[in-house]
Amino acid sequence: MPELPESDAMRLVIERECLNRTIEAAELGSNTSYIKLPGSNERARLVGHQFTRTDRHGKFIFAGSKTGPWMVVHLGMTGKLIAFDAPDEAPDHTKFLIRFEGERRLAFRCPRKLGRVEIADDPESFIAEGGYGPDALEMHRQDFMERIGGTNGAIKSALMSQKKLAGIGNLWSDEIDYRLGLDPERTANELGEDCLSRAYDAMRDILQAVLDTEATYSKLPKDWLVRNRKKGADCPKCGGTIAARKVGGRTAYYCPSHQE
Ligand SMILES: [Zn+2]
Repeated sequence: MPELPESDAMRLVIERECLNRTIEAAELGSNTSYIKLPGSNERARLVGHQFTRTDRHGKFIFAGSKTGPWMVVHLGMTGKLIAFDAPDEAPDHTKFLIRFEGERRLAFRCPRKLGRVEIADDPESFIAEGGYGPDALEMHRQDFMERIGGTNGAIKSALMSQKKLAGIGNLWSDEIDYRLGLDPERTANELGEDCLSRAYDAMRDILQAVLDTEATYSKLPKDWLVRNRKKGADCPKCGGTIAARKVGGRTAYYCPSHQE
């Protein structure tokens, strides 16, 4: 599932391919029941405008302009943003399509329909209305330590709570716990200041490194969990064996030998 760095890589598609072009139409794709997409009035708000800037908060991608409106995209499990030029056809499973002047097109492809597209006045009000926590790469150390250290629940679940901090999901919460040597089920409010501070550093380092590769996992160091994330794989840190178990309803991968 796309998290902060994966969403940022998709933001770059808009930033590089779709800015400063007048929107001629915003259309629904095929088979769009059970997926949240803008209605016709909302879609009409985009027409005649240009995207002049992009932004991201946690897993949300924004494209808009100083005066708005803004398109908000959440990728869900399998969502992708794809820019292409007519007369090429939109990719299969396109649920939302923007036609810019000339040939440029932007498709939101979402086979499993767990992503969504919305129209908002601006990113700030959208984030405030949704009650999302600060972006994981923007937040301050003290804020992180208070929000995570004040959680009476598993560290993995605390990191994944979008209301506490926005942007981390199953994959990168596992990577943070793996680097820290923490069992994913350790209670967050029992970790202590030093451990929470190290968790903050690990989170920033991991997210920034993935973001820098535009979420190309093969470019990440071989001793990361993501490169060995399979039940029974050898742990490159300690020679233990990678295991999996459910934590807060999600499958956590971890090394029982060095994570305690
Ligand atoms: Zn290990």
